[in-house]
Amino acid sequence: MTTKNNRFNELAPCGVYCGSCPSFNKTCKGCASDDKNQDRCSKWSCKIRNCCYNQKGLDYCVNCEQFPCKIFNKKLLSTHQDDPRFTYRYEIPDIFAKLITMGVENYFDFQKQRWKCDSCGGTIRFYHYKCDKCEKEQMIK
Ligand SMILES: [Zn+2]
Repeated sequence: MTTKNNRFNELAPCGVYCGSCPSFNKTCKGCASDDKNQDRCSKWSCKIRNCCYNQKGLDYCVNCEQFPCKIFNKKLLSTHQDDPRFTYRYEIPDIFAKLITMGVENYFDFQKQRWKCDSCGGTIRFYHYKCDKCEKEQMIK
C-alpha cells in the first residue's frame, strides 16, 4: 500500500492524467489537490475520489483489490463509449497497471512523456488532443 507522499497533482486517483486536463492549473490544481479555496471543480463530489482517498485511504484506485470496481466502471467506462474525445478514459484499464510495476514516480514520468507534443514539447490536452502551445492535433502515444 502506498502513502500520501505518492500523490501528484497531475495524477488523479482514478488514473486520469490531470496534467492534460484543459482545466489543470487554470481553475483546478488536479484531483489530488485538496485546496478548497482555489480549486473550483466537480472533484469534491466525485464518488471515485471519495472512495479512494477517504474510504479506502489509498492514493490510486489501481492499488485497490476491487479495481476496476462498479463505481469506477460506471463513472469512467459506461458513458461516451463511441466518442473519441474520451479515449483518455478508455485507456485507463490498460495503462494504469503500469503504476504498480513501474512505481509512482516512473509512472508519472511515463505519463508526462506520453502527453508531450511531438513538435514543440508542450502538453497535449485531452478531449481535443491538441497541444496547448502550438495547437497541433495529435493522438497520445
Ligand atoms: Zn506543440
